Amino acid sequence: MSDPTRRPSTTLVTAGRPPAHPAEPLNVPVVLASNFRNHEVAATVREYSRTDSSPGWEALEDIVGTLEGGDAVAFSSGMAAASAVIDLTRAGGRVVVGTDTYLGVRGQLADGEALGRWTVDVVDVTDTDAVLAAIPGADLVWLESPTNPMLDVADLPVLCRAAREAGALVAVDNTFATPLLQQPLALGAHVVVHSATKFIGGHSDLLMGVAIAESPEGADRLRRRRVVSGATPGALESFLAVRGARTLGVRLAQSQASAGELATRLAAHPAVTRVRYPGLASDPGHERAAAQMSGFGAMVSWEVADAATAEAVCAGVRVLVHATSLGGVESTIERRGRYAGQAHVPAGLMRMSVGIEDVEDLWDDLDAALKVATA
Ligand SMILES: *Cc1c(COP(=O)(O)O)cnc(C)c1O
Repeated sequence: MSDPTRRPSTTLVTAGRPPAHPAEPLNVPVVLASNFRNHEVAATVREYSRTDSSPGWEALEDIVGTLEGGDAVAFSSGMAAASAVIDLTRAGGRVVVGTDTYLGVRGQLADGEALGRWTVDVVDVTDTDAVLAAIPGADLVWLESPTNPMLDVADLPVLCRAAREAGALVAVDNTFATPLLQQPLALGAHVVVHSATKFIGGHSDLLMGVAIAESPEGADRLRRRRVVSGATPGALESFLAVRGARTLGVRLAQSQASAGELATRLAAHPAVTRVRYPGLASDPGHERAAAQMSGFGAMVSWEVADAATAEAVCAGVRVLVHATSLGGVESTIERRGRYAGQAHVPAGLMRMSVGIEDVEDLWDDLDAALKVATA
């Protein structure tokens, strides 16, 4: 791990670099290698990249592991990282998960339940008492905060402590917060998961995931899942993810500032019925978020009267992009209720990922799209 005393934005720039030898490159190049020369004596075993590792993704592991304060293991996608953690659940075990949890994770858990591998208890993570009641006897407690797409905030310190005391593995999907705004290991989680596809990569050009364990033993168990499932990142993706991570600090600062501004203006717009952003003092998750996060992030979810109006807004934007993914330099917006399995999401709710465009252009775009949609 790199120097943990450095500030996070410095770690993003300085971690994951090759040894400082003269005339060597500053960054790990694209290492296109499955096979490495056999070596008899070496500190690190590196013979085959699926079973061992690759310098490219080790750089990302160094950056994210240092920021999260744990031992990071890179995967081919966020879902691969999540699956590695879920895979640790014993046969016949019980999993507790929030209603508003990333669709892929809900799907993975539901598939396993249908195959008779485990049972799943679905709870509202904002209802701390309900989650606490479900925890005893659980094998895995899967928390996401803020959640996708409702931006609900779970009381992570209280829930992580309860899960630990009950002997459950507690995992937190930290994708929306990024490693800069929330460090779940410090709040009591055993393992943290990121879709590096989103803010860490930041340019909508790669799929990658990272799972960060609190201990080297925990990381070894996750690495073992990577070896046997083969969910290894690609060399180019690893390079791009590190390159993206270098600018996460400045990207997120800009996106977060714009997200706060847009949330405030949307909340005052007559055609907008509700705004969810943990940074708004009126948001139900505000107090918890202020207590456990160092910023409120770049995701804003907001509602208009109905599905048709929301679809018209999404069709009407010209600066924002009507697209599903998030965390990129470009702002994206979509109506989440269009997906199956999102019955709890209001029909007119749009999830917006705020990028780094000028905030006034984003506002003019949203305001114009709203005018057309409600005309
Ligand atoms: C996108 C996403 C994932 C899955 O990541 P992939 O890289 O698409 O596999 C998991 N959790 C959250 C919160 C996400 O937004």
